[in-house]
Amino acid sequence: MAAYDFRTVPHIHVGRGATAQLSRVCASLIGNARRIFLVTDAGVRKLGLIDAAVESLEAAELDVHIFDQVVADPPKDVVLMAEDQARAFGAEIVIGLGGGSSMDTAKLIALLLGSDQALEDMYGVNNATGPRLPLVLIPSTAGTGSEVTPISVITIGESTKMGVNAPPLYADIAVLDAELTLGLPRAVTAATGIDAMVHAIEGYTSRIEKNPISDSLALAGLRKLHGAIERACLVGDDVQAREDMLTGALLAGQAFANAPVGAVHALAYPLGGVFHIPHGLSNSLMLPPVLRYNAEAAEPLYAELASHLGLHASTDGLVEEMERIADVVGIETRLSQLGISHNDLPRLAEEAMDVKRLLVNNPRDMTLDAALACYEAVL
Ligand SMILES: [Zn+2]
Repeated sequence: MAAYDFRTVPHIHVGRGATAQLSRVCASLIGNARRIFLVTDAGVRKLGLIDAAVESLEAAELDVHIFDQVVADPPKDVVLMAEDQARAFGAEIVIGLGGGSSMDTAKLIALLLGSDQALEDMYGVNNATGPRLPLVLIPSTAGTGSEVTPISVITIGESTKMGVNAPPLYADIAVLDAELTLGLPRAVTAATGIDAMVHAIEGYTSRIEKNPISDSLALAGLRKLHGAIERACLVGDDVQAREDMLTGALLAGQAFANAPVGAVHALAYPLGGVFHIPHGLSNSLMLPPVLRYNAEAAEPLYAELASHLGLHASTDGLVEEMERIADVVGIETRLSQLGISHNDLPRLAEEAMDVKRLLVNNPRDMTLDAALACYEAVL
């Protein structure tokens, strides 16, 4: 096969209650630095999920500035506001603690403060050059895998998504603390968990950069997630199920960081941009129709994934299992349940066709008509 690169985060720490030990876990990275800029959102802060981390850092006599204004699909203005605060504070280290949006914002802050590149010059693949400030990422949901990807997605204007994708966005340390995720509501656990499964599935079938290392991670991640998602949703305080979800999401993240996702994500993005449907739910909705469309090109790979999970080795085996899981965990499976009507579909399909950076990875060419048919199939 062709030569390939595989990259990932150099230090991953997994431990229940790890955030209470954060200053110790990150001691070598922190070194003599004193000013820590912590990026999160107001919901995560209100739930007390940053408290143990902040206490650990302050007990080590570090000065912590908390930026808690991240919102879903973070707008550029929020990133620039965080940048201003981080500069005024004199941030030396950046920590992102929260969902994908908080981690994506933290990555950009580390990059903006560490290099003299403007945000506009970073958009796209391999345009951000770094260097960046030291960066620690701690997920509070098991889904995006953002703690091990080199990607930040932000929103420009009303609904345009722009991505920064470059190796300097790999963090120095990713910390998985299952205790942070014990209180996640069932709907969030379900949607983010299915999103992580989509990362594994799309990474495994990525047309261009799929490779033996990303394949192994996708398979291992998908199996972990599949084994834990129902229990994590139905018995929310099962810490082993929660840790398996976090681990599975990380493995899937390592896979798709190197073998990028395709049309499920491309068709999911406009649902977030136009209707503010959460990323995980958008992907869960679009998975079945896109996989059925892709089957013509990807049937053998979907069959491998299905058989790896002990299912009937076919696209149908895999898709029907994903539909069963969505049903068991009780999340929406139709666009009409979310207030989307037939008249909205052409706009969604047109916007999906603009997500070219992902469509090129899809195992089958996605056309406007096919995209429209995918939305219609789940209306
Ligand atoms: Zn995703």
